[in-house]
Amino acid sequence: MREAQYWEPGEAGRVHCLLCPNDCRIAEGKAGTCGVRMNRGGRLELPRYGAISSIAVDPIEKKPLYHFHPGSRILSVGFVGCSFRCGFCQNWHISQSIDVETRSISPEELVSTAVRERSFAIAYTYSEPLVHFEYVLDSSRLARKAGLKNVLVTNGYLNPQPADELLPFVDAANVDLKAWDPEFYRHETGGKLEEVKRFIAEAAGRIHLEVTTLVIPTKNDDPAQIEGIARFIAGLDPGIPLHLSAYHPQHKYTLPPTPPGTVHRLAEVARKHLKHVYVGNLGAESSDTVCGECGNVLVRRVGWHVEVTGIKAGKCAKCGAKSPIVGA
Ligand code: SF4
Repeated sequence: MREAQYWEPGEAGRVHCLLCPNDCRIAEGKAGTCGVRMNRGGRLELPRYGAISSIAVDPIEKKPLYHFHPGSRILSVGFVGCSFRCGFCQNWHISQSIDVETRSISPEELVSTAVRERSFAIAYTYSEPLVHFEYVLDSSRLARKAGLKNVLVTNGYLNPQPADELLPFVDAANVDLKAWDPEFYRHETGGKLEEVKRFIAEAAGRIHLEVTTLVIPTKNDDPAQIEGIARFIAGLDPGIPLHLSAYHPQHKYTLPPTPPGTVHRLAEVARKHLKHVYVGNLGAESSDTVCGECGNVLVRRVGWHVEVTGIKAGKCAKCGAKSPIVGA
């Protein structure tokens, strides 16, 4: 049985998991909040190391990553479990339950699958990858050796020390910033806003970063929420892309879907602070990337159809300004 990293013995046979800010103190035979890290005989163990719930080759725009190798396809793997408890989770069947069908795939097999599929990178996605820290780290190291890149799609809930260990092997991430209200985080996700902000700030200077906010009617669709998020991101780098996605009823939430007009209005609020704001989950509409200097279309997107139209040698083909896109 694989032992976990980042834990210490606790009182009365408990183990104290130090991986994420949930700070679980886990009794013998039990798992932490994420459901995947277990106290067995006073050690923190990983009975679901390498248990993969989903594997597929996706357009990278589905992650979503719009400024990182646009138009490419990426081998994507998902796990089970999550450090959050979001009632609106769009992947709740694998994140909020660990009793789902999985298949065992070792890091070596994962990397050789990526090579065979001619994927330039591996995305750790679908459910929360960071609670499978050791598997993601092992796979990322091997992937790097094989010349592949690594992408995280995550809630950004990781303590500073493990983040320092993992980020050198990560090339790009899309991190959820679910709201600007600490009470929303506490009540709706079980997490702490400040911890997510800390991870985002740490990742911003080190890897290619994009941020996603799922806009939920009456919950986080107040313009002040989006204004707070956009100001925070702009304080790190106004070139970081923000994706505002429309919510659809899932899991415990029965609120009606977010009206497209709401998402578009909030995007205009965010554009006061950020250069690149995209709307998502609204059907096959265009989310082009335009040059911040002259408005030339750099990347044209309609649904999953992607065309790099206006970039030459890393610059806007029209005005010569530096392109914000990595890998095109
Ligand atoms: S990784 Fe899991 S067990 Fe560890 S503190 Fe976070 S939720 Fe708890």
